[in-house]
Amino acid sequence: MARYTGSVCRLCRREGCKLFLKGDRCYSGKCAFVKRPSPPGEQKKSGRRSKVSEYGLQLREKQKVKRAYGMMESQFEKYYNIAERMKGKTGVNLLQLLESRLDNVVFRLGFGDSRAQARQFVLHGHILVNGKKVDIASFFVSEGDEITLRKKSTEMERFKELRESEARPMPSWLSMDNANLVGRVLSAPVREDIDLTIEEHLIVEHYSK
Ligand code: SF4
Repeated sequence: MARYTGSVCRLCRREGCKLFLKGDRCYSGKCAFVKRPSPPGEQKKSGRRSKVSEYGLQLREKQKVKRAYGMMESQFEKYYNIAERMKGKTGVNLLQLLESRLDNVVFRLGFGDSRAQARQFVLHGHILVNGKKVDIASFFVSEGDEITLRKKSTEMERFKELRESEARPMPSWLSMDNANLVGRVLSAPVREDIDLTIEEHLIVEHYSK
Protein backbone atom coordinates (compact mmCIF):
# COMPACT_ATOMS: atom_id res chain seq x y z
CA MET A 1 0.00 0.00 0.00
CA ALA A 2 1.30 3.48 -0.87
CA ARG A 3 2.16 5.96 1.86
CA TYR A 4 -0.51 8.62 2.46
CA THR A 5 0.49 11.90 0.80
CA GLY A 6 -2.63 14.03 1.36
CA SER A 7 -3.26 16.65 4.05
CA VAL A 8 -2.25 15.24 7.44
CA CYS A 9 -4.70 17.53 9.22
CA ARG A 10 -7.46 15.73 7.37
CA LEU A 11 -6.37 12.55 9.16
CA CYS A 12 -6.92 14.19 12.56
CA ARG A 13 -10.38 15.31 11.53
CA ARG A 14 -11.08 11.82 10.20
CA GLU A 15 -10.00 10.17 13.47
CA GLY A 16 -11.74 12.73 15.65
CA CYS A 17 -8.66 13.66 17.66
CA LYS A 18 -5.35 15.46 17.41
CA LEU A 19 -2.63 13.15 16.10
CA PHE A 20 0.14 15.77 16.35
CA LEU A 21 1.48 15.31 12.85
CA LYS A 22 2.51 18.90 12.10
CA GLY A 23 4.91 19.97 14.79
CA ASP A 24 4.44 23.32 16.51
CA ARG A 25 1.29 24.09 14.54
CA CYS A 26 -0.48 21.28 16.43
CA TYR A 27 -0.03 23.17 19.69
CA SER A 28 -1.23 26.50 18.29
CA GLY A 29 -4.59 28.04 17.48
CA LYS A 30 -3.84 27.33 13.81
CA CYS A 31 -4.51 23.62 14.34
CA ALA A 32 -7.09 22.55 11.75
CA PHE A 33 -8.76 20.17 14.21
CA VAL A 34 -9.31 22.96 16.72
CA LYS A 35 -10.77 25.16 14.01
CA ARG A 36 -12.93 22.47 12.40
CA PRO A 37 -13.21 19.18 14.32
CA SER A 38 -15.88 17.59 12.10
CA PRO A 39 -14.81 14.74 9.78
CA PRO A 40 -13.87 15.84 6.26
CA GLY A 41 -16.73 15.74 3.78
CA GLU A 42 -19.42 15.18 6.44
CA GLN A 43 -21.36 16.87 9.18
CA LYS A 44 -22.05 20.03 7.26
CA LYS A 45 -25.65 20.04 8.44
CA SER A 46 -25.85 18.60 11.94
CA GLY A 47 -22.25 19.02 13.11
CA ARG A 48 -22.60 15.60 14.81
CA ARG A 49 -20.80 12.36 14.11
CA SER A 50 -23.05 9.55 12.87
CA LYS A 51 -23.40 6.40 15.00
CA VAL A 52 -20.49 4.04 14.47
CA SER A 53 -20.69 0.23 14.64
CA GLU A 54 -18.51 -1.82 16.97
CA TYR A 55 -16.40 -2.88 14.02
CA GLY A 56 -16.15 0.77 12.95
CA LEU A 57 -14.92 1.81 16.39
CA GLN A 58 -12.26 -0.90 16.40
CA LEU A 59 -11.15 -0.01 12.90
CA ARG A 60 -10.95 3.71 13.70
CA GLU A 61 -8.85 3.04 16.81
CA LYS A 62 -6.43 0.97 14.77
CA GLN A 63 -6.27 3.65 12.06
CA LYS A 64 -5.71 6.36 14.65
CA VAL A 65 -2.65 4.67 16.14
CA LYS A 66 -1.33 3.61 12.75
CA ARG A 67 -1.57 7.17 11.46
CA ALA A 68 -0.17 8.81 14.58
CA TYR A 69 2.99 6.70 14.27
CA GLY A 70 3.12 7.03 10.47
CA MET A 71 2.85 3.29 9.82
CA MET A 72 1.67 1.47 6.74
CA GLU A 73 -0.82 -1.37 7.16
CA SER A 74 1.66 -4.20 6.69
CA GLN A 75 4.18 -2.67 9.11
CA PHE A 76 1.48 -2.12 11.69
CA GLU A 77 0.32 -5.72 11.42
CA LYS A 78 3.89 -6.88 11.84
CA TYR A 79 4.14 -4.96 15.12
CA TYR A 80 0.81 -6.36 16.24
CA ASN A 81 2.02 -9.92 15.61
CA ILE A 82 5.19 -9.29 17.61
CA ALA A 83 3.13 -7.73 20.44
CA GLU A 84 0.86 -10.76 20.50
CA ARG A 85 3.78 -13.14 21.01
CA MET A 86 5.20 -11.07 23.89
CA LYS A 87 4.29 -11.61 27.54
CA GLY A 88 1.75 -9.19 28.99
CA LYS A 89 -1.13 -7.31 27.41
CA THR A 90 -0.99 -7.26 23.62
CA GLY A 91 -2.38 -3.72 23.29
CA VAL A 92 0.14 -2.26 25.73
CA ASN A 93 2.97 -4.27 24.15
CA LEU A 94 2.00 -2.83 20.76
CA LEU A 95 2.14 0.76 22.03
CA GLN A 96 5.45 0.12 23.79
CA LEU A 97 6.96 -1.28 20.61
CA LEU A 98 5.82 1.75 18.61
CA GLU A 99 7.13 4.12 21.27
CA SER A 100 10.52 2.40 21.30
CA ARG A 101 11.19 3.01 17.62
CA LEU A 102 14.11 5.34 17.05
CA ASP A 103 12.09 7.79 14.92
CA ASN A 104 9.53 8.16 17.70
CA VAL A 105 12.25 8.67 20.31
CA VAL A 106 13.93 11.32 18.15
CA PHE A 107 10.56 13.07 17.97
CA ARG A 108 9.85 12.74 21.69
CA LEU A 109 13.27 14.15 22.57
CA GLY A 110 12.53 17.20 20.41
CA PHE A 111 15.17 16.64 17.71
CA GLY A 112 12.29 16.33 15.24
CA ASP A 113 9.32 18.66 15.26
CA SER A 114 7.04 15.80 14.18
CA ARG A 115 7.47 12.04 13.77
CA ALA A 116 7.75 12.54 10.00
CA GLN A 117 10.59 15.02 10.40
CA ALA A 118 12.27 12.82 13.01
CA ARG A 119 12.13 9.90 10.59
CA GLN A 120 13.84 12.00 7.91
CA PHE A 121 16.61 12.92 10.35
CA VAL A 122 17.18 9.25 11.11
CA LEU A 123 17.06 8.15 7.47
CA HIS A 124 19.47 10.92 6.46
CA GLY A 125 22.03 9.73 8.98
CA HIS A 126 21.94 12.66 11.41
CA ILE A 127 21.27 10.51 14.48
CA LEU A 128 23.75 8.54 16.57
CA VAL A 129 22.87 5.88 19.13
CA ASN A 130 25.67 5.38 21.65
CA GLY A 131 28.01 7.22 19.31
CA LYS A 132 27.25 5.14 16.21
CA LYS A 133 25.17 6.26 13.25
CA VAL A 134 21.81 4.47 13.06
CA ASP A 135 19.79 5.28 9.95
CA ILE A 136 17.02 2.72 10.51
CA ALA A 137 13.81 4.41 11.69
CA SER A 138 12.43 1.14 13.11
CA PHE A 139 15.51 0.50 15.27
CA PHE A 140 14.38 -0.22 18.85
CA VAL A 141 16.09 1.80 21.56
CA SER A 142 16.94 0.19 24.90
CA GLU A 143 17.37 1.37 28.45
CA GLY A 144 20.66 3.25 28.81
CA ASP A 145 20.94 4.29 25.15
CA GLU A 146 22.29 7.75 24.44
CA ILE A 147 20.85 9.60 21.44
CA THR A 148 22.96 12.36 19.92
CA LEU A 149 23.68 14.00 16.57
CA ARG A 150 26.43 13.51 14.05
CA LYS A 151 28.91 16.35 14.66
CA LYS A 152 28.29 17.96 11.26
CA SER A 153 24.53 17.92 11.85
CA THR A 154 24.74 20.01 15.03
CA GLU A 155 25.22 23.08 12.80
CA MET A 156 21.83 22.64 11.16
CA GLU A 157 19.41 25.48 11.92
CA ARG A 158 16.85 23.16 13.54
CA PHE A 159 19.40 21.85 16.02
CA LYS A 160 20.93 25.26 16.73
CA GLU A 161 17.45 26.44 17.72
CA LEU A 162 16.92 23.32 19.80
CA ARG A 163 20.15 23.93 21.71
CA GLU A 164 18.92 27.36 22.72
CA SER A 165 15.42 26.28 23.69
CA GLU A 166 14.05 24.62 26.79
CA ALA A 167 13.44 20.87 26.74
CA ARG A 168 9.83 20.09 25.89
CA PRO A 169 7.77 18.10 28.41
CA MET A 170 9.31 14.64 28.34
CA PRO A 171 7.85 11.22 29.09
CA SER A 172 9.35 9.80 32.29
CA TRP A 173 11.35 7.16 30.41
CA LEU A 174 13.38 9.74 28.44
CA SER A 175 15.55 12.73 29.33
CA MET A 176 16.97 15.47 27.16
CA ASP A 177 19.82 17.91 27.67
CA ASN A 178 19.07 20.56 25.07
CA ALA A 179 22.21 22.61 25.68
CA ASN A 180 24.39 19.63 24.78
CA LEU A 181 21.91 17.97 22.42
CA VAL A 182 22.03 14.68 24.30
CA GLY A 183 18.99 12.49 24.84
CA ARG A 184 18.85 9.44 27.09
CA VAL A 185 16.60 6.41 27.38
CA LEU A 186 16.11 5.97 31.12
CA SER A 187 13.87 2.92 31.02
CA ALA A 188 11.36 1.10 28.84
CA PRO A 189 8.29 3.20 27.92
CA VAL A 190 5.31 2.89 30.20
CA ARG A 191 1.68 3.03 29.13
CA GLU A 192 0.90 6.10 31.26
CA ASP A 193 3.40 8.15 29.26
CA ILE A 194 1.71 7.65 25.93
CA ASP A 195 -0.23 10.85 25.55
CA LEU A 196 -2.59 9.96 22.71
CA THR A 197 -6.15 9.09 23.67
CA ILE A 198 -6.07 5.41 22.74
CA GLU A 199 -8.25 2.49 23.69
CA GLU A 200 -5.83 -0.22 22.69
CA HIS A 201 -8.21 -3.03 23.64
CA LEU A 202 -10.26 -2.03 20.55
CA ILE A 203 -7.25 -2.72 18.34
CA VAL A 204 -6.83 -6.14 19.94
CA GLU A 205 -10.51 -6.87 19.35
CA HIS A 206 -10.14 -5.75 15.73
CA TYR A 207 -7.32 -8.23 15.05
CA SER A 208 -8.87 -11.01 17.13
CA LYS A 209 -11.84 -11.49 14.78
FE1 SF4 B 1 -3.04 19.39 11.83
FE2 SF4 B 1 -1.50 18.93 13.99
FE3 SF4 B 1 -3.90 19.95 14.31
FE4 SF4 B 1 -3.60 17.41 13.54
S1 SF4 B 1 -3.00 18.23 15.52
S2 SF4 B 1 -5.05 18.92 12.73
S3 SF4 B 1 -1.77 17.56 12.27
S4 SF4 B 1 -2.21 20.92 13.22
